[in-house]
Amino acid sequence: MDKCIKVTKQSKVDMQRKTLIATFDYELFFGKKWGTVELSIFRTTRNLLPILKSTGATVVFFVDAGMLLYYFKESPSIHNKLCDHLLLLRDQGHRIDFHLHPNWYARLNGLGRNGKEPVFYHEFVEEYSDQDLKRYFKQAYNHLFNVLKPSSNMSPIIAFRAAAWSYTPQHLVSEILTNLNIPIDSSVCPGISLDWAKMDFTNSPTSSAWSYSGGPESKDDNGPLIEAPIASTTIPRRLRLKDYLSRANNLKRWENSADGQGYATSNSKFLSKLSMVKSLILNHPIALDSDRMLPETFEYLASKWCKIANTSFAVSVGHNKFLSNNTIDLISYMSQKDWIIRHDNWKLVHEAFSKEEKA
Ligand SMILES: [Zn+2]
Repeated sequence: MDKCIKVTKQSKVDMQRKTLIATFDYELFFGKKWGTVELSIFRTTRNLLPILKSTGATVVFFVDAGMLLYYFKESPSIHNKLCDHLLLLRDQGHRIDFHLHPNWYARLNGLGRNGKEPVFYHEFVEEYSDQDLKRYFKQAYNHLFNVLKPSSNMSPIIAFRAAAWSYTPQHLVSEILTNLNIPIDSSVCPGISLDWAKMDFTNSPTSSAWSYSGGPESKDDNGPLIEAPIASTTIPRRLRLKDYLSRANNLKRWENSADGQGYATSNSKFLSKLSMVKSLILNHPIALDSDRMLPETFEYLASKWCKIANTSFAVSVGHNKFLSNNTIDLISYMSQKDWIIRHDNWKLVHEAFSKEEKA
């Protein structure tokens, strides 16, 4: 209890410092090799925890509750290990929030696409009926909620992240989130679009938070939900190039111990070279990504975001399955640069929102 009081005082004093809300999607890979919980989640997270502890950073894990449901049904022993792990993360001061991939629903209900294993697909919400979708969200949310063994001093789940690429069109889920009493969504990266994923945030507002009801991509002054976008903007080409060369030449830094394989398109070296060249020429905005950015690039983008969004915080995205030595360096670098890395700064999202509403 003492600890909680100290933390609250501390964060009030520190309100003026720039804040990073570091989030990590807690899930497995998609594709033919989806990997194991042991290597893609537990081992990588084990490498991350010491640096979080030593810098006093607390982060958000967006847990794929569909994965939990799947293991609950298919392998109770893995499910129990996952539950223990989540409680451990929470005991260490981190937040557990809600993430959900549609593919598990198909798997759980014996539905396949083209007669193939459903877990191998990144499925889209539009492939399900409204009724199925609502049922799945409710079931997954309730399961995660119960796993967290809620007690009176526990914060409820307050934020959701859509499974990128799968939640198109995203407005299908806004009503569901309202009904589940989840006030914050953190799924949008302003300015970013992915053709093959049918994801398009090119016209999303560049602001630290906004409300919506129809869909998280667009502002709606009367919307019940708050969008806390993942910070995104363009960065100088020299930093882009440096990142790319570092990944190509300093494999040890980017090595991770996960055993799954990314969704097919990211595995082609040719495609990744091509997309690098394309991004250098076109200088598209990129998301604040703790998996694939050098610490200095990350800090540059986060600071630039704060300026353009006129805010003191930036939300970043990462994945347990992609955690590498670079992620660890990055947390330490941000702390040295005097950023506060705290999940309880979700409350800044609310504040920024009410300020914007007044303006
Ligand atoms: Zn995901």
